[in-house]
Amino acid sequence: MVRVHSAGSVHEAHFLLHQLDSAGIRAHVFNNFAAGAIGEIPPSEGLPAIWLEDEADRERALAVIEAHEWRAAPGEKIATIYCGECSEAVPENFGICWNCGALLGGEDKAPG
Ligand SMILES: [Zn+2]
Repeated sequence: MVRVHSAGSVHEAHFLLHQLDSAGIRAHVFNNFAAGAIGEIPPSEGLPAIWLEDEADRERALAVIEAHEWRAAPGEKIATIYCGECSEAVPENFGICWNCGALLGGEDKAPG
């Protein structure tokens, strides 16, 4: 088990869990402490965290989480491109498709 992300809320944690599940990544949400302990501990310690069953899924999971955070931040002006392999919408600043892992970036520019 490896922790990849601290969610801002239980709602966010379960949304991310669903996104990860859709991507075929086995993950769980755990609180570091029981809910009753909130108030006696730093808030960040009481928030839910996303844990992966398999550490090998870590990079893919982080890409899924980043994609969610990008969607949740409409103030950021990042263009959307579409994966040529699976047609998933992916932020332009991603190097690979978070859904299928295909390389992105459009046409190659010939050097010189
Ligand atoms: Zn793709």
